[in-house]
Amino acid sequence: MSATSDAVSCDVLIVGGGAAGIATAALLRRRRPGLDIAIVEPHSVHCYQPGWTLVGAGVMTRAQTERPEVRLIPPGVRWMRSAAAAFDPDNDRVDLVDGRRVSYRRLVACPGLKTDWAAIPGLAKSLGRNGVCSNYSAEGAQRTWQFLQQFRGGTALFTQPPMPIKCPGAPQKIVYLAADHFRRSNILNQTRIEFHVAGDALFGVGFFVPVLKSRIERYGIDLHYHSNLKSIDGDNRIATFAVSDADGTRDEQRAFDLLHAVPPQGPLDVVRDSPLANAAGWIDVDQVSLRHVRYGNVWGLGDATSTPNSKTAAAVRMQSRVVVDNLLADIDGLSNAAAQAAYDGYASCPLTVSYDEVVMAEFGYGGRIMPTFPLDPRVPRRSMWELTRHVVPRLYWDVMLRGHTLDIAHRPRDF
Ligand SMILES: Cc1cc2nc3c(=O)[nH]c(=O)nc-3n(C[C@H](O)[C@H](O)[C@H](O)COP(=O)(O)OP(=O)(O)OC[C@H]3O[C@@H](n4cnc5c(N)ncnc54)[C@H](O)[C@@H]3O)c2cc1C
Repeated sequence: MSATSDAVSCDVLIVGGGAAGIATAALLRRRRPGLDIAIVEPHSVHCYQPGWTLVGAGVMTRAQTERPEVRLIPPGVRWMRSAAAAFDPDNDRVDLVDGRRVSYRRLVACPGLKTDWAAIPGLAKSLGRNGVCSNYSAEGAQRTWQFLQQFRGGTALFTQPPMPIKCPGAPQKIVYLAADHFRRSNILNQTRIEFHVAGDALFGVGFFVPVLKSRIERYGIDLHYHSNLKSIDGDNRIATFAVSDADGTRDEQRAFDLLHAVPPQGPLDVVRDSPLANAAGWIDVDQVSLRHVRYGNVWGLGDATSTPNSKTAAAVRMQSRVVVDNLLADIDGLSNAAAQAAYDGYASCPLTVSYDEVVMAEFGYGGRIMPTFPLDPRVPRRSMWELTRHVVPRLYWDVMLRGHTLDIAHRPRDF
């Protein structure tokens, strides 16, 4: 890396030191130790976000989901503790909020997405008060568990905003866990649980819907489609939903004792306002090669991209391998179509349907079912709960973020 007072340059610049950025840096470093790599990342703590569902249910502590960023940045990789302010791919440059300019030969863009707490009036100021919580932040997940423990019966509302969001299964995982917690506390029959979904489906892959519906029925959950959380009056514990049907859209109010809210999500402003974005504001990459469709020396992965997979860390695990293969092939002058590694859309979503069962949903582009194990993935299993609780976090910290790969095949299977 070369540096002047306000300008630096590197072979590979990675913007975003989250799941995708760290996994990619670690893999690149192992595969090509001499490469000059820099990561731009503003935060000093990295969160294992899949653990937030379990923090919200009291199964994991917040501390178990957090590690200092400095311990995760691979040795030899330079951490620029700042944020990208502007992408300038026509000049192979990124401007940082602290005024520095970074030039690169190749760019990997993975700054995640925007969790838009301000989009729902009353949400930000109610969080952590008046029974309002959300597993979509570390602090919010702690509050979820606190409020679940304090709940003594009444009305518990859960919401799911329009897609795309990260981990599309997460809004409903906490519904089942809360219901099971109320059942175990003998207050389920004094509780009205409503799940308000902005869209018209319980889960994006229809194959898994029947088992989820059966759990909705078993717990007596009142499921509302086309019902989008619009505002919260925390002091009076009233939530307003925009409800759509054949007659149009109207406001409906619901009183609550507990409200688990999921904020709307979308592209970060710095991505949306850049030449890297597609019309919807996401980083415009080819869904198979993960190479940018207009800038040949740019790759993108993780929650920030236009690819139509489910935005999950499990997807990042497969995407980081594809990006590293294709970026190194480009360095080696092998970037013809035959040399391209291909991402098949793999994602996984452990649906926690109770305190000791998980439906392990694994699928790829077009909803193709891609199980790791030779078992029917629709069946809720205790083994999958144990895997989710104990094995997957270790794979995240010690395998994926360390640049190791496991040769696990997720082949499409028909059922
Ligand atoms: C409640 C919840 C439950 C989930 N459950 C699961 C699950 O069960 N299984 C699963 O696989 N996935 C799950 N996920 C999703 C998973 O955590 C994400 O898909 C994954 O973290 C995406 O990785 P990423 O690197 O793209 O984004 P992130 O990990 O969010 O990292 C993005 C990084 O970019 C940084 N950044 C932001 N702006 C800038 C900027 N301007 N310049 C530089 N850096 C920037 C951020 O600080 C952050 O460190 C869950 C997520 C949530 C919230």
